[in-house]
Amino acid sequence: MRKITIVGGGQSGLQVGIGLLQAGHQVRVVQNRTAEEIAAGKVLSSQCMFGAAVQNERDLGIDFWSDICPPVQGIGFTVPHPEQKGAKVIDWVARLDRDAYSVDQRVKVPRWLEEFTKLGGELVIAEAGIAELETYAAEDDLVLIASGKGEIGKLFERDAGKSPFDRPQRALALTYVTGMTPRPEHSAVCFNLIPGVGEYFVFPALTTSGPCEIMVMEGIPGGPMDCWADVTSPEQHLAQSKAILDTFLPWEAERCKDIALTDDNGILAGRFPPTVRKPVATLPSGRQVLGLADAVCLNDPITGQGSNNASKAAAIYLKRILDRGDQPFDAGWMQGTFDAYWDYAQWVVQWTNMMLLPPPDFVLEIMGTACVVPELAHRIANGFDDPRDFFPWFAEPEAAAAYLQGLKAA
Ligand SMILES: Cc1cc2nc3c(=O)[nH]c(=O)nc-3n(C[C@H](O)[C@H](O)[C@H](O)COP(=O)(O)OP(=O)(O)OC[C@H]3O[C@@H](n4cnc5c(N)ncnc54)[C@H](O)[C@@H]3O)c2cc1C
Repeated sequence: MRKITIVGGGQSGLQVGIGLLQAGHQVRVVQNRTAEEIAAGKVLSSQCMFGAAVQNERDLGIDFWSDICPPVQGIGFTVPHPEQKGAKVIDWVARLDRDAYSVDQRVKVPRWLEEFTKLGGELVIAEAGIAELETYAAEDDLVLIASGKGEIGKLFERDAGKSPFDRPQRALALTYVTGMTPRPEHSAVCFNLIPGVGEYFVFPALTTSGPCEIMVMEGIPGGPMDCWADVTSPEQHLAQSKAILDTFLPWEAERCKDIALTDDNGILAGRFPPTVRKPVATLPSGRQVLGLADAVCLNDPITGQGSNNASKAAAIYLKRILDRGDQPFDAGWMQGTFDAYWDYAQWVVQWTNMMLLPPPDFVLEIMGTACVVPELAHRIANGFDDPRDFFPWFAEPEAAAAYLQGLKAA
C-alpha cells in the first residue's frame, strides 16, 4: 500500500484519488472548499465532457449522471455573414458517435467528495501552502498537485517553449439558463465564430436545480464581447449575454426569448493566459512534487477540453502509479508520467492555441467544405473527443489541401 496526498479535489484530483482508494492505497485529499461551499457557490466551468473522458469516469463507477443529464448529441459550427445580419457564411452540424455530458461541477464535486470519504479517503479541508506540502511530502510516498488555476500551481515553472501566449486571449463569461428553445432534431454544442469579435457556444447540461443550457462567451480582448467589467448584478449579466446575441447572432437570440438564470450563482466572468508548466517542482527541503491537469497544463476553454484533459491525465497518472508497484516515485518517474500525458495533451494544446488566433484561409476552407461534405463535418465534430485526429490536416495547409482534394474526388 502506498501513501499519496493530492492537493485539490476537483475533476482530476478526485478521479485519481478514488481510483487509488479502489486499488487499496491510502489517500489524503487536501481541498480548500467544503462540498457545501462548492454546491452553494458560483459556477466554475461549462465542463462539457466527450465520450472518452466520460468513459474514464464509468471505468471507476463514478459516472452518476448519464441517466439524468441531458446529452449533447452533436456539434454545430456557424460563421455569420460579415455584412448581412441574420445570414450565415458557414453552417453545419454533425452527430457525435458517443453522447457528451456536462454535469455542473457544483453537482459533481460534492458527490465525488462523498464517494471519496465513503471509500475511506482522508479529506482535509485546508488551503495547502509550501509548509503543508513539505509535511505531506515528508510523510507520504507521493504528492500530486491538482489545484487547477489555484495560486499554488505557480510553484511549477512556466514552460515558455510550450506556452506561446503570456496574456489572456479571451474575456470569458458563462451564463447558466433555463427556458431556451432546443435546437431542432438533436442537441448539440452550437459553436458560433464571429471573426474579430469572439466565439459563442451553447449546449445542454445538468445543474443543481436540474436540466439547463450553458451559454459560453469568448470575447477577443478589447472587442465588443469583452464587455463584463461594468456588470455588477446577475440580472445585468443575463441582459449583457442576450444583448451580445441580439447584436451578432440573431438565430441564437431567437432561442433565448424566454430564458432565465438557473440561479444567481449561475454566472461567471474572468480571463487567464493559457499556460503549460514544468511538471516537477522541488520544495525548499529538496523533496519533489508532481503537477496534474490544469495546474501544469491550462488551456483556454475555447475548445472545451479542460475537463476532458483532466480526466485523461487522471487516467494516465492513475495507471502509472498502480504500475509502479513498490518502487520510488522519483523525479524521473514524475517527468515520465507527465510525458506520457503530454504525448496526448500536446495535440490538444496546439489545436486550442490555433483556435485562439484568426483562422487561416485553409482552416476556413476546411470549415466551409464541411457544409457540403457530411463525412468531414462528422470527423471535425468527433475530433473534440480526441483532437489528435486533427493532425496534420487541420494544422498544415499542404496536408489540408491533400485531404480536401481526396474528399472531393471521392
Ligand atoms: C469559463 C470556463 C469554461 C470551461 N468549459 C469547459 C468545457 O466546456 N469543457 C471542458 O472540458 N472544460 C472546460 N473548462 C475547464 C475545466 O473546468 C477545467 O479544465 C477542469 O475543471 C480542470 O480540472 P482540475 O482537476 O485540473 O482542476 P479543478 O477542477 O479546477 O480542481 C482544482 C481544485 O483544487 C482546489 N484548490 C486550489 N488550490 C488549492 C490549495 N492551495 N489547497 C487546496 N485546494 C486547492 C480548488 O478549489 C479546486 O477544487 C472550462 C473552464 C472555464 C474557466
